Amino acid sequence: MSDRNFRSFNNRALPYTPIRSGTTVSSSNSNWSFRSVSSASSSDSSTFWKTPPKRWNAPGPGMKHISIPGLAFVQQYISSRRLLLLAFFLTLALITLIPIATRHDPSPSTVHAISAFQPLRATFEDTNKKRPDPIRWLKENSNDRHAVLRIDLPQFALLGGSKPRAALISLVRNSELEGMMRSMRQLEFRWNRKYQYPWIFFNDEPFTEEFKAATRNLTSAKCYYELVPREHWSLPEWIDEGRFMNSLEYLGTIGVGKGWMVSYHHMCRWNSGFFYKHPSLENYDWYWRVEPDVHYFCDINYDVFRFMRDNKMKYGFNMNILDDARSFPSLWTRTRAFATAHPHLIHPEADLGWLLDPTNGNEYNNCQFFSNFEIGSLNFWRGEANDAYFNWLDNAGGFYYERFGDAPVHTLSVAMFVPKSEIWFFRDIGYQHDINHHCPPHKEGQCSCQPTSIDENFYKLVPLESPQRKPVDTCIRQFLGGDWLKKQEGWSMEAEKAFGGDGYHGYELLGDEL
Ligand code: GDP
Ligand code: MN
Repeated sequence: MSDRNFRSFNNRALPYTPIRSGTTVSSSNSNWSFRSVSSASSSDSSTFWKTPPKRWNAPGPGMKHISIPGLAFVQQYISSRRLLLLAFFLTLALITLIPIATRHDPSPSTVHAISAFQPLRATFEDTNKKRPDPIRWLKENSNDRHAVLRIDLPQFALLGGSKPRAALISLVRNSELEGMMRSMRQLEFRWNRKYQYPWIFFNDEPFTEEFKAATRNLTSAKCYYELVPREHWSLPEWIDEGRFMNSLEYLGTIGVGKGWMVSYHHMCRWNSGFFYKHPSLENYDWYWRVEPDVHYFCDINYDVFRFMRDNKMKYGFNMNILDDARSFPSLWTRTRAFATAHPHLIHPEADLGWLLDPTNGNEYNNCQFFSNFEIGSLNFWRGEANDAYFNWLDNAGGFYYERFGDAPVHTLSVAMFVPKSEIWFFRDIGYQHDINHHCPPHKEGQCSCQPTSIDENFYKLVPLESPQRKPVDTCIRQFLGGDWLKKQEGWSMEAEKAFGGDGYHGYELLGDEL
């Protein structure tokens, strides 16, 4: 600082007088606070913040010297105004940087336990050398690399591109609030508190204020509450109501799950062909379907939507099960007719083989992705192929005269129109829906469940005794293919059954590695 500046600095010093709160200036009590004196000239008092009071450096009689080590030295070179500005910016930088330093999950198991858990890929013919490597991606990104901060800093180029346009979506009734809260709490705790994707709730009736307040309270992410348009939740005009009523009665009589409920038919149809057309999802590319009263057992330490996007995935599942085929007796005939009529829509790298039974004239083996858990691309569903397929099934009335479920419909659509390499088994996401649950091999403390065998959920929904068609291998093995189908030497299905087994044992790989 030049001599002149230094002088003007001193000249501008204001008549600050240390006073003890509520007493006279001359008090010798050492309990001091600083206060600007009202008798100071008005022009001075309007600029008082530019300089510290002189007496900070030169205390008056009876006043304790407040010395900040080094401050006087620094003030020789930097004006106090700049000092204030500097302090301000330093504080700002600290506030900004602290969350970066602490944003990783503080639990000791922040890294995806890749050593304990092997992601399983379906076998497929790989002709594309430039295909992304999802397993490598997981190794590089499972340290919560893309977890967002409350202060949402721009994280573009540095951290791997913009955030996917994605949402957690749930079709739910007001009466299911408690169950919704249970699902939300777990998914927030295990994952979304770190990633802050919005929740979008759908309902065929307006949500109550109670529902909105209670769900909003469970997340710091944004929540939206949407009404399903009437035309997406009512009988289309080509449905014969009398025939529909008869089928409700029939499905009820034979005990097809919830087949007697009108609303269940609307729900299956909405989940099959309408959710992705809802205007509120127009600006989104990805969704994670969440149901009330499900469970999420494991920490998830990466951004699943980035995983989907970066690895060009279209559909993610975590259970592959057998469901009651009596709910969709005509589904396969209609699907085969569709495929025959639209061969150009079938993806060249699609694999429908795992859904067909070669021992039974290539009929549908009734395996299906359990669609109450889904992480997928909305754009895939919006695409030409799926749209044409859905309309084909819908026009035939199968959502009402039968009980086409969104699970088999999604499964067949994905199998026909998505390359096998773009379907992902989220085996690492421990999950439960009613009696079906799935728990991956994991490190201690990562999941609140006991690891399940890979075949665990196979025929839970359809008892072994049921006469319905079943696949040769368990559904998940049918999907994975390759080594997962290999049997131990000397094993035979007949022998296993003769000894009381179900005929689905004897595999070389058990998938229970730890
Ligand atoms: P399940 O899993 O096949 O037994 O079928 P659910 O009864 O669990 O229904 C599937 C999803 O649709 C759940 O998220 C339900 O909350 C939702 N759902 C089913 N029926 C209705 C309905 O009539 N209205 C609304 N708003 N949601 C429904
Ligand atoms: Mn359910």
